[in-house]
Amino acid sequence: MSQPEYQSISPSDFFYRNREIAGFSNPSRATYTAVRELIENSLDACEARLTPPDIFLRISEVEDQKDTETKIYILRVEDNGTGLPAEHIPKAFAQVFYGSKYELKQARGTFGLGVTMAILYGQISTDNPIIVHSKTAGSKGVKYRLLVDVENNRPIVEHFEELNRSEDGTTVTVTLKGDLKRAQERIMEYLKLSTISTPSASIRLSISGDVVMDFGGYSDTIPAPVKISLPHPRAADLELLRRLVQRNGTKALHDFLCESFQKVGPKTASKFVQFMNMDSRKRVGEMEREDLASLGTALRNYDGFERPDSSCLSPIGKQEFIHSIATQFNTSLTHYSMRGPCEWQGHPFIVEAVLATGDEFPRSDTPSLYRFANRVPLLYDSNDGILMRVMKRTRWARYNMHTSVPVALFVHVCSTRIPFNAAGKQSIASVHEIENELQLLFKELGRKLSNMTSKVQASAREAKKMREFSRLFRQIVRFSASLAEHEEVPSTEKLVQTLFEVDSDA
Ligand code: ADP
Ligand code: MG
Repeated sequence: MSQPEYQSISPSDFFYRNREIAGFSNPSRATYTAVRELIENSLDACEARLTPPDIFLRISEVEDQKDTETKIYILRVEDNGTGLPAEHIPKAFAQVFYGSKYELKQARGTFGLGVTMAILYGQISTDNPIIVHSKTAGSKGVKYRLLVDVENNRPIVEHFEELNRSEDGTTVTVTLKGDLKRAQERIMEYLKLSTISTPSASIRLSISGDVVMDFGGYSDTIPAPVKISLPHPRAADLELLRRLVQRNGTKALHDFLCESFQKVGPKTASKFVQFMNMDSRKRVGEMEREDLASLGTALRNYDGFERPDSSCLSPIGKQEFIHSIATQFNTSLTHYSMRGPCEWQGHPFIVEAVLATGDEFPRSDTPSLYRFANRVPLLYDSNDGILMRVMKRTRWARYNMHTSVPVALFVHVCSTRIPFNAAGKQSIASVHEIENELQLLFKELGRKLSNMTSKVQASAREAKKMREFSRLFRQIVRFSASLAEHEEVPSTEKLVQTLFEVDSDA
């Protein structure tokens, strides 16, 4: 029997072998995912600069190609965000798990993976490098041409030059083998929904030189900047505790708790240490492994800590959410509800939703579901996630939901940690606390729906009555005019309108 050969692989090699789990399963999905990752980064960078995002996405075919389903496309995304410091560009773009979004605050990016996957896919499908132009405030700007050294998870810098760029921001150009025919509809849907969840963003899409769509710009208000938070004590697993102790080993237990965690002030720390029956002056670096383990268990289970801070979150908010949905979908009635801030394992989260009626939505016995996580629309794998599960579990018939009224439900979950099912970030995993809050939110909206559908039905009845009345009234007027031998039949419209206004005021 021969011995197996043991080896280790780098993170980029792992994603090269398993690109499906990051959303690059076929040319059409890869085109969509690459666009999504680039737009996500641009929106994050604009929000960090506190400026309304102005993003231009250009997609063009490489010339002289055969007319096949998959073709080589050039994707170019230009933004007015913060830009990146030149020294971070190679690793940020061409090294898996390198990024600026690992802190505890809400962001669209999570893993430090997205843009590198787009480059990696482009590189293996077309052998072309990525081109990055970027300028930060106070710098002149730089240009890079980069590839990924997949086996070693390192950037390869093919070209570098300094620029004289006037505007801050970043332009990224990726060449990849894609299928735009199949992906285009989803890309447009994604851009449209992105401007709903980020109403201050304007996104222009041009395909082969023609401007296909201009989305967004629904609000001048930029979301308040989110704050970076300390971990909540209920998030203290053994690994986190070990890292915090390594950094602050000389601190006394009492001070260590106050400085390392949110929601632990001197009073709470003293109470907690007393409850633990531990010495508050003991240096944490000198604690035994078992003591640290029981400290972690106690931190996670002690019920004297307040809920996590939510200044690290950025919900869309009632006014903005309703306004952008109403503008895009021409809604008739809308209702907003939110729950939170709540927490799951110490991570704060908020769930918010808008229920809307409008003729553009399909008629069904359940509302059409639009899902968002940290302001990113989720368009794939809806059946794998908790949003659809809770949606199906809700008994909409009880709330007067039936096929005569077209209803849609727009749901946004935001958190410092969204528990995604896979690295492609398309559906949210089952987490008891989030599921519970969604269930309560949907029930609340269901009750509202009963009122809304009664209103829609009442106004439909009213409209029918008015049509019937106008018809009869016109006949009477025509008949009376001919009896009185008037040649001209007077108009009845204004009179009917006035009568109905009086009726509905009564
Ligand atoms: P993530 O977005 O999850 O952090 P990415 O691989 O998509 O991971 O991006 C890596 C890093 O590159 C980001 O964290 C960010 O710091 C930087 N970056 C990427 N695109 C841009 C951009 N358009 N503007 C500014 N910074 C960017
Ligand atoms: Mg990203």
